[in-house]
Amino acid sequence: MRVDLHNHTYLSKHAVGTMEDYVKRAIEKKIDVFGFSDHNPMHFDKKHRMEDKYKIDYFTMFEETKKQFSKEIKLLLGFEFDYLENGMNEDLLKEDVDYLIGAVHFIKDLPVDNHTMILAYKEKKDIFKNKDSTSLWTDYFDLIKKMANSGFFNIVGHLDLIKLLTQEEPKKDIRIIAKEALKAIKKSGMSVEINSSGLRKSVQEIYPSKKLLEEIFSLDIPITFGSDAHSVEEVGFKAQYCENLAKELGFRKCVYYEKKEKILVDF
Ligand SMILES: [Zn+2]
Ligand SMILES: [Zn+2]
Repeated sequence: MRVDLHNHTYLSKHAVGTMEDYVKRAIEKKIDVFGFSDHNPMHFDKKHRMEDKYKIDYFTMFEETKKQFSKEIKLLLGFEFDYLENGMNEDLLKEDVDYLIGAVHFIKDLPVDNHTMILAYKEKKDIFKNKDSTSLWTDYFDLIKKMANSGFFNIVGHLDLIKLLTQEEPKKDIRIIAKEALKAIKKSGMSVEINSSGLRKSVQEIYPSKKLLEEIFSLDIPITFGSDAHSVEEVGFKAQYCENLAKELGFRKCVYYEKKEKILVDF
């Protein structure tokens, strides 16, 4: 079974394509379970996410699309939700969706993955002035740990996204830096997605790295898959490669969620 739970439509503002376009492509790509995860509306970073007023359209469009394609593919609805230490919208966190991908895109006001924003930030502040890359990795994984402990989320999105900001491995072993976060993920019952979008970026590798996936396997944390598509062409991106890699590491099952209930399937 092929699963892809991480996809953005035009509603996220920095992605293109309608739900219908995405689903047609997903069917072509032999995806069996396909989920939408547009960025949650919030007061911060408004340029890269759904407007609050379009939330209702997101739900309506999904119901229509689901009806239209019900015989061909299983469709799910979620959000990619920014974990913020202070001030997440609790009502939205409790919204009746299939799943929430928890993601850390910011360390305080420092953007982790948006290239243009990073460049603008660097002009204003020297991010490496007081911090070496190891401490950025540590700060980032501390937020992942807090996100897992919050208990709101089902899937950890792009677990080691921080590599995009630092562009280098930290001096300390990544497995030691991520240890407490992985323990918290295990305890929370969350799954970790194998996200292929890193292969489209300068880091040229999936999130999380093979090294971290080995740790995830040894802790018996469930996995799922996501192409993090921002256009129709990216749907199912490198799916076969990700599935093969997961099998090589020993994984035999992956998960998806219906109304937050975890469902385990072969892939
Ligand atoms: Zn993301
Ligand atoms: Zn995403």
